[in-house]
Amino acid sequence: MSSYDPNNIFAKILRGEIPCGKVYEDDHVLAFKDINPQAPVHILVIPKGEYVSISDFGAKASAEEIKAFFDAVSKIAEEQGLSGEGFRTITNAGLNGGQEVPHFHLHILGGRRLGPMLTKLAA
Ligand code: 5GP
Repeated sequence: MSSYDPNNIFAKILRGEIPCGKVYEDDHVLAFKDINPQAPVHILVIPKGEYVSISDFGAKASAEEIKAFFDAVSKIAEEQGLSGEGFRTITNAGLNGGQEVPHFHLHILGGRRLGPMLTKLAA
């Protein structure tokens, strides 16, 4: 796994060097609107610690950080009015996962029927 790049865009958001449409923050977690939304609600949830991907987060984060992260996901879904009709979470990891930003993040998508999980790919 590659090492953490402190110049990635989400690290800059965490340091306050770049603005974001913040929707949630606590000691361990920040969440903000995706700049290029793929659904009526599209939120990115990130830990404040330096973790490259979900694997890195699972391997290195403390139990407190992991609990805070998933508690925040549930709270945000509730606050955004997604809990009733449902929503989708996605985390892309690495090259095959199509991860663009190398700071672990979870996408929360909702506000409409999202359809099949993956578009059909050519064989
Ligand atoms: P990934 O492909 O790594 O799972 O997702 C990265 C996401 O970050 C993309 O959905 C992209 O639109 C979003 N993104 C990239 N740069 C910025 C930014 O500067 N601000 C915000 N709010 N979102 C960003």
